[in-house]
Amino acid sequence: MKLQRVLQYAQHLLMQSIEEGEIAVDGTAGNGHDTLFLSQLVGENGHVYAFDVQQQAVDATLNRLTEHRVTNTTVILDGHEKVANYIQQEIAGAVFNLGYLPGADHTIITQGNTTVVAIEQLLQLLKVGGIIVLVIYHGHEGGKKERDDVLQFVSSLSQKHVHVLRYEFINQKNDPPFIVALEKVKLFQK
Ligand code: SAH
Repeated sequence: MKLQRVLQYAQHLLMQSIEEGEIAVDGTAGNGHDTLFLSQLVGENGHVYAFDVQQQAVDATLNRLTEHRVTNTTVILDGHEKVANYIQQEIAGAVFNLGYLPGADHTIITQGNTTVVAIEQLLQLLKVGGIIVLVIYHGHEGGKKERDDVLQFVSSLSQKHVHVLRYEFINQKNDPPFIVALEKVKLFQK
């Protein structure tokens, strides 16, 4: 296959922007797959902050990290919309898998308003050349509202400061997830 699948492409983008020794954020730890991936990208001199509002997700992520002997990661039981309370340093990249935790309560979902707040805060912290990757799941109850809220917000960002990409297979059934990626290309004025 020549066209990368959505999850592969998400990782490809993160590899483009994150280097060893830098700081990265997983906005939705979930089962910890992306947290582990980021921890490997930043290496032992870097650091990853992962957020989730569910204890079950925090525990699953911590277990995965322990299994892989990862020590460069902080897993935080709190919403990503509070990211600025926890991180003040420059970050190199961030990833969000929106929607619900597979195998858990389908009513605990990410929401457009809080996702947008998190993106706004992360764009401030992001280095120039850094990328925020959103994997947008929209097949579930509430998913279309979040998708539309997020798309409306990212479409309004100034192209002088942020390049916004949508990567999507458009002939697949059942609302497959798609990617929105934001590359910061110029500092915002304070
Ligand atoms: N849909 C994806 C997985 C998404 S997991 C897939 O199928 O692979 C999304 C995670 O976001 C869940 O674990 C959920 O608890 C978490 N979440 C929901 N609201 C959040 C918030 N405000 N801040 C951080 N995490 C949140």
